[in-house]
Amino acid sequence: MNKEIDQQDLVLFSKLSRSLWVDLNDCEKGSSEALAVAGLMNLTPERTLDKAIQALLERANLEGMAGNSRKNQTSLLQCFFRLTPEERLSLAALHVARWSYQRLTRVLNTDEDSLQELVWAARLQLSLSQTYPTGPSTRGVNCLSYDMRKPWTQRFLDDELSSKGELIRLQRHLVECESCLKLLNRCRDLYFKVDRELMKIVEGPDFSQGLKRIWDQIPDQVPLAQQSFRGSLKALWRQPDIPWLLLFLVIFVFLKSLHRISF
Ligand SMILES: [Zn+2]
Repeated sequence: MNKEIDQQDLVLFSKLSRSLWVDLNDCEKGSSEALAVAGLMNLTPERTLDKAIQALLERANLEGMAGNSRKNQTSLLQCFFRLTPEERLSLAALHVARWSYQRLTRVLNTDEDSLQELVWAARLQLSLSQTYPTGPSTRGVNCLSYDMRKPWTQRFLDDELSSKGELIRLQRHLVECESCLKLLNRCRDLYFKVDRELMKIVEGPDFSQGLKRIWDQIPDQVPLAQQSFRGSLKALWRQPDIPWLLLFLVIFVFLKSLHRISF
């Protein structure tokens, strides 16, 4: 695999873990272990980070909502830490790391409709004390249909419209439709509020340097299908504990045979 990784991706990886735990030590320990294990799977850098994020999420979910809340109790006054781990990670992935829906659905093992509903519900929860982004008051024949559980305004702001053509059609419509423009502006207020919340949570020191050291220690590997038997043995022999283990086994068998002879 290509072992080169962009340092910025490790910065983002460390910031994503901050959405799961408040304590920096918890984040760093979890992220380091997850990256070391995912690194052995012989995947591309992006897929390795995806697997590491999945492991972090699994860890947060295993703690249970109550356990995870207990760990983050110092920040439970912040609405953000009252969301589920999936919701927090999804918002961080979209607002901080600017992930696509496609990548996020792969990591969460879900479909795009469910993802849109999940992030919309999470965004609404964060906006409860603010202006609620209500639906359209009037709807013209050319207006896009507004799904209360996953509105088009969210897809627009997440830069996830289906095509450039749809974007151009919508931009033209917004020039002449005051109702849709108001809808979009209300959603934009919510979007930037969530943005500010997220930035406060992930700001401060990151531990990407430590993650880079772990990344550099991941052994170079070739795809399993291309490995020869001799190559595999060589790779095994290069593992630090293997020669000592084999030497110990030889001495053990030798002593065992002496013991048998003496009887
Ligand atoms: Zn309209």
